[in-house]
Amino acid sequence: MDSYDIIVVGGGHAGCEAALAGANMGCKVLLITMNMNTIAQMSCNPAMGGIAKGQIIREIDAMGGGSGIITDKTSIQFRMLNRSKGPAMWSPRAQSDRVRFIEAWKILLESNTNIDFWQDTVKEIVTQGDTVTGVKTAMGLTFSAKCIILTTGTFLNGVIHIGNQQLTGGRMGEKNSTGVTEQLRQLGFETGRMKTGTPPRIDGRTINYQELECQYGDTIRGKFSFLETDHLLEQRPCYITYTNPRVHKVLEEGFQDSPLFTGRIQGVGPRYCPSIEDKIVRFHERDRHQIFIEPEGLQTVEIYLNGFSSSLPEHIQRKALAYIPGLERAKMFRPGYAIEYDYFPPYQLRASLETHRIHHLYFAGQINGTTGYEEAAAQGLIAGINAARTIQNQEPIILQRNEAYIGVLIDDLINKGIEEPYRMFTSRAEHRILLRQDNADLRLTEKSYQIGLASENRFQKNQQKKQAINELKSSLQEISVEPNAVNYLLENLEEPLLKQKSKISNVILRPNVTLQDLAKAIPALQSKLTNYSTEVIEQVEIQLKYAGYIEKEMMMVEKTQRFDSLKLPENFNYQKVIGLSNEAREKLTKIKPENLGQASRISGVNPADISILMIFFGR
Ligand code: FAD
Repeated sequence: MDSYDIIVVGGGHAGCEAALAGANMGCKVLLITMNMNTIAQMSCNPAMGGIAKGQIIREIDAMGGGSGIITDKTSIQFRMLNRSKGPAMWSPRAQSDRVRFIEAWKILLESNTNIDFWQDTVKEIVTQGDTVTGVKTAMGLTFSAKCIILTTGTFLNGVIHIGNQQLTGGRMGEKNSTGVTEQLRQLGFETGRMKTGTPPRIDGRTINYQELECQYGDTIRGKFSFLETDHLLEQRPCYITYTNPRVHKVLEEGFQDSPLFTGRIQGVGPRYCPSIEDKIVRFHERDRHQIFIEPEGLQTVEIYLNGFSSSLPEHIQRKALAYIPGLERAKMFRPGYAIEYDYFPPYQLRASLETHRIHHLYFAGQINGTTGYEEAAAQGLIAGINAARTIQNQEPIILQRNEAYIGVLIDDLINKGIEEPYRMFTSRAEHRILLRQDNADLRLTEKSYQIGLASENRFQKNQQKKQAINELKSSLQEISVEPNAVNYLLENLEEPLLKQKSKISNVILRPNVTLQDLAKAIPALQSKLTNYSTEVIEQVEIQLKYAGYIEKEMMMVEKTQRFDSLKLPENFNYQKVIGLSNEAREKLTKIKPENLGQASRISGVNPADISILMIFFGR
């Protein structure tokens, strides 16, 4: 059998990004997945991005990953969420055509000659000492590689629940995967059980749209990728409806057969993405819950009911739908269901996503206890990069919390421990004013280019953009404006008037004022702006308007970086440090932080413990 640099196990969102990154960094990659037709399958909703998740996709794109481009190519609706808030909160989201999404990912991967494919199920990993050297498959084949990345998603010992019915499966209609968990447990890994769920899909021809609120995408369609991508012209709206007390009553009739309430589901589910039965119980005072009716694609009538995830018996789901406005005659294509699967608590990983226990073995995606395509894709990208770096004898790439949401995600996973499926929120990022979707390329593209991932074309575009931003910014510091030229405009915008001649860079600090507004009143600015793209103009505006906040945040970052510069030895015996609390000793031994900054973020390690470590290590 051929030998590879990297074997990626699993062709989900993590696996696709891992394979692409490894291959684009020059490695020979084998992607082994159980079903080639479900590569990049969206197991749940046909949408990418959303709050904080949209920022992650922008970061993946800035690094040269595929998720942004594929979403742009296949999106049938785009919205920038949170536009009314500050730019740190703006979050892109797109509905994608589910079938085209898979097709576009397959085309992208298959066009890369560094990637080979094999449809099979990996049953175990092969090791030599404490280093992984290959995998064995259900067909009895052995493949060898220098690095292995496991991205098995919801498939490890997956069990599907619909009411009292239990089926083995990794996703509805697909087999689960056995053997890997059992073997890794024997090698000393700890595993746990989690669960997630999905709503029913219904026949769009049986919906009464007259009853529903329509939600269109943005008129000026945005995009995820910093590169230009061809995209579908046809767009589709979503619709909104609500449950009501009658629907809740019907659902309650099924509670006695609910795997969630009868204790048949042992795994912990995502609190932030609860099933409809969970919502009825937890928010008993609410008499309605919102449901988004989302198209699955351009060439299908299938509809996804976002917000109506359920594992109640199929007949209860069907009966409840009939009481929802607009869905009275709705026919179901597939019922909702819950799935339980094995995951590996991520404290067992280094920040590179390599496992502590077995060298050159990486875990990425839902296997690490996360939920969501974006979180999975981000980990896949980093695991792919770091597997390639290992092969090239280079230090791993670790994005810091002040550099990227991806950095926050991985840092949280390995240090904070997870008790429920982890999803990203803007509130998890303490430096979110720096981690905006608009500047992901300015933060990450150069770094990615330097490690040989971002393409020359992407890098050149990025350099030109940086230059244009600097140029426009400095020219705004030169153009001045007289009060009588703009005060009528400022009055209309309910902003303080100018009392004396001012630089545009000062006038723009007023919250409601945009450069495009000012250009209407200032011909010199108007002609200047015609030389720049909307993206550059928007970037300059944000950088000027929020300069004070950004500067303050940078000072905070500098402070925390001092901790990060103090490296800690990997297999250090924390028992010998006098004064550390027992909890700190236990957590530091288990998580093996790479530096003092990481140690300070471990839950249970308090500031007193950090002071003791500083003294111990001579600072
Ligand atoms: P997956 O997308 O699951 O891909 C895993 C891949 O690995 C598959 O291609 C599989 O064939 C392959 N594979 C597995 N084992 C092996 C093996 N041994 N050998 C070879 N190949 C293997 N996310 C949300 O954010 N919100 C939700 O509400 C939500 N609901 C969900 C509901 C359901 C029913 C499911 C199944 C998932 C849901 N998700 C949800 C999760 C979302 O689908 C995942 O987070 C995301 O797909 C994880 O990506 P991944 O790459 O880690 O794994």
